Amino acid sequence: MGKAFERFVGFLFQDVSNEKETKDMAVLIRVTCLILVLYYLFTSVCIAFLQHYVLSLLLIGGMGLTIGCFVLTYENRTRLALILLNAIILCCATMLTFYLGFSMGFHLPIVLNILLIYYNKTDQMMAKRLYSFALMIYLMCISEITAALSLSVKPSATMTMVFQTANMMFFALNIMSAAYCYCMKFNQAEEKLRRINDNLERMANIDTLTGLSNRRHMNEYLAGLVYEYNRSGKGFTMAIGDIDFFKKVNDTYGHDTGDYVLSTAAAIFKRFMKDKGHVARWGGEEFLFAFENMDLDKAFRYLDELRHLIETTPMDFKEFHFNITMTYGCEEFNPRLGIETTINRADGKLYKGKQGGRNRVVK
Ligand code: GH3
Ligand code: MG
Ligand code: MG
Repeated sequence: MGKAFERFVGFLFQDVSNEKETKDMAVLIRVTCLILVLYYLFTSVCIAFLQHYVLSLLLIGGMGLTIGCFVLTYENRTRLALILLNAIILCCATMLTFYLGFSMGFHLPIVLNILLIYYNKTDQMMAKRLYSFALMIYLMCISEITAALSLSVKPSATMTMVFQTANMMFFALNIMSAAYCYCMKFNQAEEKLRRINDNLERMANIDTLTGLSNRRHMNEYLAGLVYEYNRSGKGFTMAIGDIDFFKKVNDTYGHDTGDYVLSTAAAIFKRFMKDKGHVARWGGEEFLFAFENMDLDKAFRYLDELRHLIETTPMDFKEFHFNITMTYGCEEFNPRLGIETTINRADGKLYKGKQGGRNRVVK
């Protein structure tokens, strides 16, 4: 039973293969068609009891056409199905209202047409507005005409109650299914927007080659550290690391090998800094490290460990096997100097390290 229901739901939610059509519109039409088929069947049986056989047969015809609409959505003719469904709803509602009176509530499905039309993914808002307005006028007209011409037959009190209840019930069911589809559509759109936003945020913060934070994101991160320093006095140390003779790597092994070195080194940094702070790609082959809650001496010891790790990690790319070294300059954050000057001082020490022979940490 559960499986059959699952299969039925799968059938209802089957996607459309036409690029110009949307699955959600097709699903809404299918669900509406199913409810309307039951509605027309029920109404035609009731009307047959009242011995209005022609009207009953006409409703069976409407039911057949509604099934046709249902089938059309599987034939990638959703637009045609929508137009046809609107026409069927209008015709059946008008016919029943004229025959049995406005008070029975047979005009209610006409309102559904507005929901269906607005759900359709087109930009023709003006046409939708005009159509909705025309439907409103139409409803007012048939209300006045049925009252003025008194064409309708008068069903018994019991039948009146049956019709009114059934009309209300099926109308509520249709509105519920349309509301559900609208809700799903909003949720999907929101989810899509959230994913796009996440993606944009990642793109704005992450360096594409190395996957590390970029300069912009690191600046935000450092502002957070300064805020924390002012709030709780938690200090931190910053360091700039620069790959030695990197130009030579590019010139000797090619630019793609240089890229490989950058991403391999970045992966090592990321792992190494996991429980110590944060690292970012600061420039071409320069990286900025922030050692949280650490003074200069402690950060220096970690940096020397990292320097050794980089020096001893073999770079194997294509047929090339080589090692690289890096030079680092570090400086403890000083609130009197601020971030920029602290970084400049670290940079000055890096320069000294380069002049002093490279592959070293200067504190
Ligand atoms: P030093 O030891 O003094 O730092 O020398 P160096 O050769 O590393 O420094 P230099 O500033 O002369 O060269 C840096 C090179 O880094 C030049 C540039 O082409 C290269 N580079 C910058 N960004 C990238 C990148 O994204 N990929 C690759 N493959 N190379 C890059
Ligand atoms: Mg360099
Ligand atoms: Mg450099």
